[in-house]
Parts: sequence; C-alpha cells; structure tokens
Amino acid sequence: MAEQHQGFVWQYADPDMAAGSATVIRTLLDHGYEAYWVGGCVRDEYMGRKVSDMDITTSALPEMTSNLFPHVVPTGIKHGTVTIIENGQAFEVTTYRVESGYEDHRRPKEVVFVSNIEEDLKRRDFTMNAMALGMDGAWVDPFGGRRDIDLRMIRCVGDAEVRFREDALRMIRCIRFASVFGFSIAKGTWKGILTVRSTLSWIAMERIRSELDKMMSGPDPLRGLELLKRSGLYALMKVPFPYKQHNSKIIAAISIVQSSCLDLRWVLLFIGCGISSVQLDHLLRDWTFSNKRRESIVGLIKLQERWDHDSTGEPDSDRQLWINLVLEHGPEIANQWLSMQEALQTAEQQMIESTEQEKSITKSVHVQHARTWLDEMQVKSLKDLKVTGNELLQALNRKGGPWLGEVLRHLLVRTAAGVLLNNKDHLIEEARQVMNDEKE
Ligand code: ATP
Ligand code: MG
Repeated sequence: MAEQHQGFVWQYADPDMAAGSATVIRTLLDHGYEAYWVGGCVRDEYMGRKVSDMDITTSALPEMTSNLFPHVVPTGIKHGTVTIIENGQAFEVTTYRVESGYEDHRRPKEVVFVSNIEEDLKRRDFTMNAMALGMDGAWVDPFGGRRDIDLRMIRCVGDAEVRFREDALRMIRCIRFASVFGFSIAKGTWKGILTVRSTLSWIAMERIRSELDKMMSGPDPLRGLELLKRSGLYALMKVPFPYKQHNSKIIAAISIVQSSCLDLRWVLLFIGCGISSVQLDHLLRDWTFSNKRRESIVGLIKLQERWDHDSTGEPDSDRQLWINLVLEHGPEIANQWLSMQEALQTAEQQMIESTEQEKSITKSVHVQHARTWLDEMQVKSLKDLKVTGNELLQALNRKGGPWLGEVLRHLLVRTAAGVLLNNKDHLIEEARQVMNDEKE
C-alpha cells in the first residue's frame, strides 16, 4: 500500500500532470492550508474519461499561494485565481470563494473568499462539477455528484431557476454536458431552463460559442442540437440561430463526419438549415468565430452554392466546373468539400426513408469522379506552375501590368484541365500566343 501512502493514484490523468498537481497540493497542506483537486478533473476521473487539465481549490488566499511557489502567473488575482507552473505543467489554484449579487444574469458583482470548501462547491453549476478530491483520496461530494453520474444525470446544485438566473450560460453548459456525456437532464433542472430561458440573450456570444464548439465536437452533437431546439434556446441567444426549415438528411450527416473535423460539422449544420454564404458571413462574425475559421467555413458554403447552381450532371462540364472551383477555393477546401459529400452520401444510404423533397435539396454528386479529377490536376494553384511571372516578363520582353495576371490565370486553368503541359517552354509559348492573338 506504499502508493496509497503517497496519495491518490490517478488512473485517467497524465502522470506528469498528476505529479505536478500533487506537489502543489502537498506544499499547500504542508503550510497548514487546505487544498483539493476540484471540478472537471475530479468528475472525469470518476467517469473514467481522460483528464485534460487539473484545477485546485484551497483555503489559502491568492497572495499566500503566490508566495509558496517559484513560478506563478497572476491570472485572476481579483477572482482568487493564480496559475502555478509545476513539473512543466500549469495549474489554476483558486481560493475558496462564493459569488454574490449577480448582475445581468452573467457576472457576479462581488467575489468573497470563504474558509469552507463546501461553500465553494455550492457556487459551482452541476452536482458532478461540484466535487473535490483530497491528496489521500477522500471525496468531498456534498451534493451527490457521484450518485448523479451513476444515474447519468445532469442536476443543478441547489434551485435550478435561481442558478440559471445567476448565470444564464449554465443553461448552454447543461445541454453541452448532456450531449457530450449522453446524460439526461434532471426534471427540475430542465424546468429551470424553460422558466429562465429568455435571460440567455444577456450572454456574450463568445462564451456560448465556446460551449457549442465543445458540444459540436463531442460524440453526439445531434442530441445537443435537439435539446437546444426543444428548449427554445436556439432562438433566444443574443444573435439567434436561424434554425427554421431544416433538412434532416444533411443534419444527420453531422454525426458521420469525424469529431476532429469540427468545422465540417458546423458547415453541415448551416447547409442543413439553408443559411446562405452571405448570411453566414455575418452570423460567424457575430458569433466570434476567428477569421480563419470563418473564411474556411464560408468558403465551403460558397463552393457548395456554386456547385448546386452550376452543376449540370454532365461529366465534361462538371469536370471543368470542378477544376475552376478547386482553383478558386484551393485544394484544402476542395478536399474538405469532398469529405462532406461522402458523409452526405453515407447519411443518405442510412436514411432510406428520406423524403423526395429532401433528396432534391443537394444535387447528387459523383464524388468518386470529383476526387479523381482533383487527383489528376497537375497544378492546383499558381505556385505549382512551372513558370513564374518574372520569367514570363523576361521571355516576352514586356512590362508588367494587369495582363500578366490574366495570362497566368489562363495558363493555370489550361494546365489544370490537362490541355496544356506544365512545362516551362510550353507555358511560355502559350503565353506568347495569347498575347499575339490579343494584338490581332
Ligand atoms: P471541461 O471538461 O469542458 O473543461 P469543466 O467542468 O472543467 O469542463 P470549466 O469551464 O473548465 O468546465 O470549469 C471548471 C469548473 O468551474 C467546473 O467544473 C465548475 O465546477 C465550475 N464552473 C465553470 N463554469 C461555471 C459556471 N458558469 N457556473 C458555475 N460554475 C462553473
Ligand atoms: Mg475544465
């Protein structure tokens, strides 16, 4: 039992992280303070899920904690949090605290430090998140968090209505956890959401988006989406989600796309709800998606729109259309679009009962062809061309100007389509001809 003597043995946490956090707790205990692992890490260990980070709660005031460790980042001293670097890992150490006087259903007016761990656990959102674990493996679980996990149930700590009124983001967190863990929501907690739901409009979209990202990359995003719809929360966000008509085949494809392709799942949701690229550009800005993510998501939808609009189903013209789209949007987006089409086809096969009207919303695409066409392209962007702008200027003995971009574009389209060899001499010769033709 030597290990027991050393302290709790973590089964689902990285050993370096477990060791580093144990050192932090041991140090605090040695100086006469209380300290525990708390929140998500404790819940995940009990559930047998991989522990991603470890938070610590302590009776020590932030300055006292800071003084005990050599590497400290004063993350949120005012709120009682300091970050300690130990064993190469960062740990948030937060003083026992309660929050009071919530303003606008989103932020506490003041934070008061307290000396009792149960008080600290009481301010936390759900019973499964309101547990602490001591060095010796003793559980502090005053609200039945382990029982609720065994029941696979999300339940507010205390009166759900009060807790959701304090911080409306908790409603979204509730649905996120239900979706990611496949848990049900306790009756009173669900009733609380239905009563308090209109206060969601106070919450910054950035906080909501971050919860929804976690939901969408989980094992069952469709369940979360269904709960959002049933609760009415969709329509009550500061920037509401336009979830009016929707195509269930496309929505079903979300769960076929790998969870690592988060943005592809988002794209399917948006297409499934019939949101146009123009609408979406605004929505994603308002929802605080990064520029990079927004551009790639909107790019995919634009590609989809162009395909839906211009595809004839006739192989030669579809191939030319596809090549143009690849050149316009780049091979990365083209590849993602193909993965998306594959997911849609699988969803279609699975949904034998999909209605005719739904089938007609996305035109059937011969994905295998498009994939082959993409593989066959000798060039996918200007940098693949075996001639540079400078080389053309020299060879044709001309000054630069808008003509150069046009000629390069012409060479690119012809080489991509396979009608022109990607060879410097051929390319220069073709450019010379184009310029001569223009003169005549
Ligand atoms: P994840 O595994 O996704 O990180 P988590 O439960 O650790 O889930 P965090 O946002 O990291 O979520 O929060 C850490 C802990 O802080 C939670 O377990 C919970 O105890 C508490 N907490 C977080 N957000 C809230 C909130 N809005 N209201 C009350 N308590 C909260
Ligand atoms: Mg966490």
